Amino acid sequence: MEDNPEHLAKLLEDLPRHRSSLLPALERAQTRLRYLPAWALEAVSEHTRTPKSEVYGVASHYPEFRLKEPGRRIVRVCSGMGCVAKGAPGLLADLESRCGVKAGQTTPDSGITLEEATCLFNCPHGPSVEIDHQTYGHASLDMVSRRLAQVGYDHHHTPAGNGHHPLRPTLTGQPSERLTQLINEAIRKRTGEGTRLLVGAGSCANSVGAGEVTTALRNWAESAALFFSVIEAGCNGMCYGATLVTVERPDRPAVTAVGVNAENAVQRIQAIFADDLAAAGELFRWAGESYNGVVSYKETPFFAKQRRVLLANCGIVDPTDIDDYLLRGGYAGLVHAVGELSPQQVIDEVMRAELLGGYAGLVRAIDELSPGQVSDEVKRAGLMGRGGAYFPTALKWEAARKAAGQPKYLVVNAEEGEPGIYKDRHLMEGDPHRLIEGMAIAAYAIGAGEVIFYINGEARLAQQRVAAALRQAEACGLIGEDVLGSGVSISVEVRHGAGGYILGEETALLESIEGYRAMPRVRPPFPTEAGLWGKPTVINNAETLANVVGITRHGADWYNGLGVEGARGTKLIGLSGNVARPGLVEIELGTKVEVVVNDIGGGVSDGRGLKMVLAAGPSGYVMSADALSLPMVPRGEYLVGSGGLVVLDDRHDTLDVVRRLTRFNMRESCGKCTPCREGTVRLIHLLDRLIDGGTTDDLGELRKLNEIVAGASLCGLGQMAPNPINSALRYFGERAFARHSADEASG
Ligand code: SF4
Repeated sequence: MEDNPEHLAKLLEDLPRHRSSLLPALERAQTRLRYLPAWALEAVSEHTRTPKSEVYGVASHYPEFRLKEPGRRIVRVCSGMGCVAKGAPGLLADLESRCGVKAGQTTPDSGITLEEATCLFNCPHGPSVEIDHQTYGHASLDMVSRRLAQVGYDHHHTPAGNGHHPLRPTLTGQPSERLTQLINEAIRKRTGEGTRLLVGAGSCANSVGAGEVTTALRNWAESAALFFSVIEAGCNGMCYGATLVTVERPDRPAVTAVGVNAENAVQRIQAIFADDLAAAGELFRWAGESYNGVVSYKETPFFAKQRRVLLANCGIVDPTDIDDYLLRGGYAGLVHAVGELSPQQVIDEVMRAELLGGYAGLVRAIDELSPGQVSDEVKRAGLMGRGGAYFPTALKWEAARKAAGQPKYLVVNAEEGEPGIYKDRHLMEGDPHRLIEGMAIAAYAIGAGEVIFYINGEARLAQQRVAAALRQAEACGLIGEDVLGSGVSISVEVRHGAGGYILGEETALLESIEGYRAMPRVRPPFPTEAGLWGKPTVINNAETLANVVGITRHGADWYNGLGVEGARGTKLIGLSGNVARPGLVEIELGTKVEVVVNDIGGGVSDGRGLKMVLAAGPSGYVMSADALSLPMVPRGEYLVGSGGLVVLDDRHDTLDVVRRLTRFNMRESCGKCTPCREGTVRLIHLLDRLIDGGTTDDLGELRKLNEIVAGASLCGLGQMAPNPINSALRYFGERAFARHSADEASG
């Protein structure tokens, strides 16, 4: 296609011609053109019937839109704290010196645009660099130079499946009967199927070579004429062990190999095939007890103190195949048993299995419960939103259900733009059907016929896997018109963000869906009364919806067995920084911080001492080792937030860390209200003065201004921007701010 207004208009022609198409249209234009020249903005303006000035205002507001043509290669270095801990600032400085330009500039020959990224969400593998939209972990100057030298380098592409769904039988009867027919069909297709190798190919593992492992195994199968399939699964959370390969064979227990790479992949899998497990390197099992010297995952240090509910399927199901979800990843356990059990017994087993996904929760909801009863069950379970605010989920649902106005909307918030937080990506990449099931149950409980599934603009693999899963669920009658013959209809539209931490604020998210700058609305009215286009709207975080599946399937009593009084359920925590075993961890609420850092994470890496833990992202807390004894509960002394924990060793300087976090909040301020817009800039000035030697007056002014910013800002971003300063003062005292010396850094 030629790049001119006429052809761009053609590219946009299927998008509705109104303002809410503005962001999708800009995204499409930029994907095509690499940036948004003036003529493209005009074409978008015409198509969406939005004034040109407004289009420009929106395009210039979102950080992922480019108004200036970038160099032929775009290199972005992550500046999230997980990467900072692993040396990202030094790497950026080296690249600046190698390229001869500063971050934010393009080399004179237009060859390379070098940028600092707020976060590449690849925290366990820091330092991370993105080259032409492909992320690389454990990056070094040499590695980046090598990649850049590969002219036209065709990076590994991870296909996310096309949502292909073989013809389904015509479903009849009640929803439960229809689900049974789907499960039966899945069993029939799987019967007699051979060996599968599931490669943990989430975006994190892909950054350190999972794609090459997949290619090596596929090449081997082809060249040796071996009959096994190589599947790109999600990541099970053991990011430090990437790449993981799970070997499922019909006649043997499944085993997972840790730390596979392209060079050793064939040899290690050959050893497993030959039952020479001692020669196969580090292994563990997902099901059953230790076998033949291979330990159960429950005996590994990383998993022993976790409680896997939401992540139960991640890494061991094919996220692009709904049959895996229908069988709950029971390929090895359940389908293997098909030879011994009748189809009905297998179905009974599937329905009984603890933590089952498989759309049984949705079927129970629409078959047996009224929308109000679903809400009641979720209320009795005590589920609180996992986006960081921990508001009772059922209260939101009830408010929207009872509010006047139609249609009602559900927005799935999978924007996840908070540095250090990558849990929703793992869920979307590893087990998208769980989220779709939770979404459908929530929509039913609210009475929402329309759902917007909002995914971060840079979470490309998550976007592909959710889109594929939605197509499959629709083809199976699990979403869309007349869900499983129940009379309930749920239509889903997928939206992509365009960057900006503020999108985590729910009314700013609504603004972006409607085609405006992401700026929070003044409340009341609350979204449950007047949200999207003025209609009752519920915004639920993706992890929250993943919780709903288990509650609906097994009941509130089951859920109340997880966590502690007042804080039920499990929580996903992204563990990164200077820790021996970084990854994504699932713990019961109430678990102590030290269990996560030391028992699961293996403590501080490289034998260093612990300087601090950063809780809950850039507007979270900077805490000393005293935090280790605290339980992780919402509204406790330790700030759980949406679930990021960065460990920093004794080489880090408190004031430097506080400045980095405050600078992030300053940059991400949307500018709508003065206390946040101006106050955060002033906070940085004061921190700079303190870094340069400062006085007690500066510190006093910092404290005073902090109070104003926290108290007078309109939304959570401004209100929480002072958290790093306040918490560092609380945990490290004024001494950490009074001077900036090697003495403090080593203390
Ligand atoms: Fe925008 Fe900050 Fe005000 Fe929130 S507090 S509305 S981010 S300026």
